[in-house]
Amino acid sequence: MNDSEPNSNAGLVAALRDALGDDGVLVGDAVTARAGDGSGTVPCAAQAVLRPRTTEQLSAALAACHGASQPVVPQGGLTGLVGGGVAGDLEVAITLERMTDIEEIDPVGRTMTVQAGAALQSIQEAAEAEGLLFPLDLGARGSCTIGGNVATNAGGNRTIRYGMTRDSVLGLEAVLADGTVLSSLNKMVKNNAGYDLKHLFVGSEGTLGIVTRVVLRLERRPRSHNCALLAVPGFTEVTSLLRKLEEELGGSMSAFEVMWREFYELVTGPQARTAPPIPHGDPYYVLVEAFGARQEEDAAQFEEALGDCMEDGLIGDAVLGKSKAERDEIWALRDDVEQLNHLAPIFTFDVSLRIADMEAYVGGIKAALSERWPGSDCVVFGHLGDGNLHVVVGVGDGSPEARSAVEDIVYGRLEPIDGSVSAEHGIGFEKRAHLGRSRTPEEIALMKTLKRTLDPRGILNPGRVFEAEGAPPTGSHADASVRLPA
Ligand code: ZN
Repeated sequence: MNDSEPNSNAGLVAALRDALGDDGVLVGDAVTARAGDGSGTVPCAAQAVLRPRTTEQLSAALAACHGASQPVVPQGGLTGLVGGGVAGDLEVAITLERMTDIEEIDPVGRTMTVQAGAALQSIQEAAEAEGLLFPLDLGARGSCTIGGNVATNAGGNRTIRYGMTRDSVLGLEAVLADGTVLSSLNKMVKNNAGYDLKHLFVGSEGTLGIVTRVVLRLERRPRSHNCALLAVPGFTEVTSLLRKLEEELGGSMSAFEVMWREFYELVTGPQARTAPPIPHGDPYYVLVEAFGARQEEDAAQFEEALGDCMEDGLIGDAVLGKSKAERDEIWALRDDVEQLNHLAPIFTFDVSLRIADMEAYVGGIKAALSERWPGSDCVVFGHLGDGNLHVVVGVGDGSPEARSAVEDIVYGRLEPIDGSVSAEHGIGFEKRAHLGRSRTPEEIALMKTLKRTLDPRGILNPGRVFEAEGAPPTGSHADASVRLPA
């Protein structure tokens, strides 16, 4: 859409400038100066970048794109891991970076109304300033946006207690492909007046509409924090530990993160930023955290629960995070996913399965990988309490053929146990060939019916989640560089 040359898009560019103003439509160098993906090393390939200031502006811009059958790619903070927001050279990117206001906080009803371009961290801080908590938390908090979190139904570290993003959304406003503004800014916890339309957009990865405003449900801010790192002698003990702590902590558990031996050794190895708080040599390490209301009583209950688990032989060594600094240190080693780069080239996976199936599943993929590639690396960690594992595989040259063979091993073994190829990262481009491994043909057919109904010309993020149907070509896409799961 180079508007210095007369072409068929000149009318569209004029309409977009009318809708958004000159500084709302970037072309040429102003586009290539922007990052194309989260690595920051690839320039934006889009024909143009649109920067609406208001829902009305976005509505007018989308109506113009719909009229011209122009494909668009909504972008949040570009922190996604499956290439969903990476725009191709025939597409127009849309960013809500000028719609970042926190519009209202209701401390009694515990809701916050925000514009979708607001960064997750600014939302967390605004909630905290009111003595409340917005519980969604992930490593990219400083740059990811709430619109992106909603569009991808982001998970993160505290899903076990507060659910995924979907569970924190009470209402939203979205603009449909043809510019229709759907205002569904519900603030009530209970509202069964017909279909709950917000769920169409949560997790739709920008394919059904562009979320512009969100009503978030806030939680009470916890006044006590307890956290520990535990060494666990076997997988049966990991599952017994989860169950026992859930019982003994009375619903206050806010994280149950498990690190398989290889991950723990990597993030506490000689090259890592943290020395091992517990010596190497155990098969599993667990980070457990609880939020409550009274620090002294809760700390006593937490330590008593861990003592009981130790007596039962469920844990060996344990290190308690007694201060904020000590708790941060324990989280820092869990979050030090950069260490995975030492295994590069790597393939990363984000799978979901029943906890009862995990030991056999991980054993099966490790055995298959070593048989095919002796000496290969397979590192597993994740939000075990949610049934979500991150699997990182290093098998030599990182070629597309190797990727495909590794995918067959990692995804193929999920099918018979009804697991999911995506727990929290979404499908985007990267996993769309595998959607059928986790969804039935009837489910995918209904997804496509919804897509056709809401976006009849297929302009919204085409080709993400599933192949575009009869849509204009989306152009070439820079391969999203390997990003690390968290
Ligand atoms: Zn994760």
